[in-house]
Formats: sequence, structure tokens, C-alpha cells
Amino acid sequence: MYQFSRSMYRELADFVAPDGCGVGNAKARLLTSCEAAVERLAADRHYFARPARSLFNDVRMLFPLSKQLVAFSVIERHMRLAADYVDLQARTGHSLTGVPLICHATTRRGTACQREPLPGSRYCPSHKHLDDELELTAA
Ligand SMILES: [Zn+2]
Repeated sequence: MYQFSRSMYRELADFVAPDGCGVGNAKARLLTSCEAAVERLAADRHYFARPARSLFNDVRMLFPLSKQLVAFSVIERHMRLAADYVDLQARTGHSLTGVPLICHATTRRGTACQREPLPGSRYCPSHKHLDDELELTAA
């Protein structure tokens, strides 16, 4: 996932405004935030709501006002690419964190379902209907 945080950081670093602690500190902070956001996206794809907005809120004070709009669009583009990549890997059955993918459902006994999800789904064959319900609710 490092290619995403690194290239996002490289594009954003040019917009960083010098502050009291100097540009070096601000850039270090920017890099840490970019890496944390991309890592969280990889580990927590479905529970990380609005990743671009969350990262932007983390780092927006590092940019002058005149650069905030462009900084947000850079963040949005890179986080979308990273999310697409995570989804693609999940669809082929790969988890980026090395933890095997498991069904997101809770069983009737109240424990987490440990079965392998269907390709492209968050759920195993017995809990597949939960995916449809989610889509219906969203629509
Ligand atoms: Zn299941």
C-alpha cells in the first residue's frame, strides 16, 4: 500500500505552508497521516467511512487556505485509487494485511462467522443475503 501513501504525500508536500515549527515538521506530520490513512483503509475498508474527508481533516491545517481545495482533490483521488485497489484484492480473495478475509456476519450464537466470504462480497454463502439487504437499504 506504500505506493499510494507515498505518491499522495509527494503531490501534497508541495502545498505545505511553512509554520512555526518549520516545513520539515509539517511534512513529516503529513507523511505520517497519509500512511496511517492508507493503512487503515487497507485494514478496515468497510468500516472506514469517508476516508478522504477524514485524512483531509487531519492535515488541512498544514496547507494555506488557497491550497486546501487542491489538496482535498489530491487526497480524494489517491484514496479512491487505494480503495479500488483494496477492493480488487479482496475480490480475488487477497487481504492486504495478511489476515485472511472472513465473513462480516454474526452467527445466531452471537459469535463472529469465521467462514470465507464469497468473492466480491463481505459475506459467506450462508450470510450472502445480508449484502443484498445492505444494498436495498442504501438504495
Ligand atoms: Zn458467514
